[in-house]
Amino acid sequence: MQGDARSAIDLLKELRALTADEYGAQRLAWSPVWLKARAWFQTNLIELPVEHHYDAAGNSWTTLKGESEKALILGSHLDSVPNGGWLDGALGVIGGLAVLKRIAAKYHGKPPVTVRLVDWADEEGARFGRSLFGSSAFAGTQTIEADRGRTDSTGKRLEDALAECGVKIDEIGDAGFERKNAGAYLELHIEQGPVLEGLNLPLGAVLGTKGVERHMITFYGQEAHSGSTPMNARRDALAAAAKLALEIRPIAMRHPDAVCTVGSVKTFPGIVTAVVGRCEATLDQRDLNADVLAAMYKEAQTKSEQFAKEEGCTVEWSRIWNIAAEPFHPTLVNFCEEAIRDTVGKSHRLPSGPLHDAAEVSRAGIPTAMLFVQSLKGISHNKIEDTREEHLEQAIAALDKLAAKTMEWIKAAI
Ligand SMILES: [Zn+2]
Repeated sequence: MQGDARSAIDLLKELRALTADEYGAQRLAWSPVWLKARAWFQTNLIELPVEHHYDAAGNSWTTLKGESEKALILGSHLDSVPNGGWLDGALGVIGGLAVLKRIAAKYHGKPPVTVRLVDWADEEGARFGRSLFGSSAFAGTQTIEADRGRTDSTGKRLEDALAECGVKIDEIGDAGFERKNAGAYLELHIEQGPVLEGLNLPLGAVLGTKGVERHMITFYGQEAHSGSTPMNARRDALAAAAKLALEIRPIAMRHPDAVCTVGSVKTFPGIVTAVVGRCEATLDQRDLNADVLAAMYKEAQTKSEQFAKEEGCTVEWSRIWNIAAEPFHPTLVNFCEEAIRDTVGKSHRLPSGPLHDAAEVSRAGIPTAMLFVQSLKGISHNKIEDTREEHLEQAIAALDKLAAKTMEWIKAAI
């Protein structure tokens, strides 16, 4: 597998040379550079005993037919954010291709179960603000009515951008036909965070994707003159919001993997000579455990009411967005740990804070697992995103072992 992993790294570099400029990767979904990346991908299928097609949502499917139609699916995404890195998404697709090639060679083109490689369309949502586009269409959780009117920064409509790539917005739900015979889904991805590097471990088994609670919290006080209003007579909406911004740290830190972020604060009237009469703050809370997430949400609400009262203010909450946690399949998570241990000796289990296509696949009821490889400095969505090549090789080798175990598992259940 080592030689295969090496050539996969060479392919990733080739893709980088083809689709990056001085600012980073530019494989923005539904753009000419993205189409170029996909056309390049197809040139790597020549001489392989596979079939290829695009589904109704623009997902790219490469199929190696096996003795059984029951399929192991490997995948990730070739699209990137603007000025993105060389590994986010691309590693899972090209690493998956290396594994598919290895399986094709081992079984002389006919493995016991079918093996499919998917490149999901528009995972990032960087252009139209709709992440997990292709995988949600596959899973049947797409939101066409809400997405139809989306436009990019130039005013171009999502519907028109899709049409230019041969995708009809009203038909994307037909991507759900691809779920037929799906036995399991595996995705290799860079961690995009600092946990594995901090533990000095190359690889980790992902427990699932965290649930998210995202809220707008508005504190109402009293606008007043900054010169004439004594300190003890103020109803300062920012003071209440500031107390909450600090309090979310202990709220999150009571749980090992939870995170809470106040990412935006707006003050009104927002001038240097007025006490803040209204303050709008956003809160993003995440955890893999639904009970922990619910408890953190409740605690933040209770604390916001306490701080509002202390500052002579009132507070209102409105939900911006939420999504349930998606734990991965326990058997496959165990296989993933075994594959990692067999490859590098030591494994670690960790939840994923970012969402991934794998969460949509899992939500559709398909047994799913993810393998993370260490990200240097935890940086992603940036051209400096990087992983040691030695770790990339180990990641592809571990994915190969995980795929072999999972194929056995699918075959045993037929
Ligand atoms: Zn990604």
